[in-house]
Amino acid sequence: MNTYQFNYSIYQRPFRQPLKTSHGAWKIREGIIIKLTDSAGRSQQGEIAPIPWFGSEAIDRAISCCQQVGEQITTAQIYQIPDDLPACQFGFGSALIAFDADSATSDRSPIDISALLPSGAAAIERIQALSAQGYSTFKWKIGVLPIAQEMAIWTQLMMALPHSAQLRLDANGGLTEPAAEQWLELCSGEIRIEFIEQPLAPDAIDRTIELAQKYHTPIALDESVATFDRLQLVYDRGWRGIYIIKPGIAGFPWRLVAFITRHQLDVVFSSVMETNIGATAALRLASSLQLSRSMGFGVGDWFGDDL
Ligand code: MG
Repeated sequence: MNTYQFNYSIYQRPFRQPLKTSHGAWKIREGIIIKLTDSAGRSQQGEIAPIPWFGSEAIDRAISCCQQVGEQITTAQIYQIPDDLPACQFGFGSALIAFDADSATSDRSPIDISALLPSGAAAIERIQALSAQGYSTFKWKIGVLPIAQEMAIWTQLMMALPHSAQLRLDANGGLTEPAAEQWLELCSGEIRIEFIEQPLAPDAIDRTIELAQKYHTPIALDESVATFDRLQLVYDRGWRGIYIIKPGIAGFPWRLVAFITRHQLDVVFSSVMETNIGATAALRLASSLQLSRSMGFGVGDWFGDDL
């Protein structure tokens, strides 16, 4: 068992513009950077970036977890972080495994990243600029504007989208069943739609399974599988579609990797709007799993700073 010196610092990052989702507007990302230093003086960082409205602990609870640790922490104490602190489990867990990852060589091909578009009509121009930067997978939030208006924008968006590119539509659980069916119907003839993400409310698993059987458009679950508990539950209920997983709030990284591997899940890794520290840890997991789908980490330009 190892003992590590422990330090942490809290950060606040304002979004350039509030991030609008069907949960409301998100203005400031608060998180914690932790640092573990071993007896040889080597240090590794980890990031705790909670999203309470997505099922993780609140930032206050994460801060008190760090305060309680004091100046030192052991490997055993890290393993004992409870399941109701999943962002803390990830932050401490990823710092811990980084001590091993550091010595391993990582000569992989660059990872394909999906770029998040602004909601509404602003996406049309943005898709052209991002295509020029080399992005070929995009994500656009739906369920934000009235459906007729959004579908009209979608038509324009599909004209702006390069032929070889792919678009993901993310409803954040905000669609009614008739609206979800309209979107699935609209997209079923368009192969550039990679999937519709979380069309229905997080607990509507059985109904989402029925929709997945009825339409060609693939469906991904996100909010439904936000925590490790829910991921297991949804798998047991019979979901065999795509899983959007936010490693940053999915608990201990080694437990997540074991579950995905054991059940051969079709997975997209996604951002929790973390800094490079958390993103690097998540990308390292993705590369160990050799995920084939683009990851949802193209969010750097949503912040005014350069963390
Ligand atoms: Mg989503």
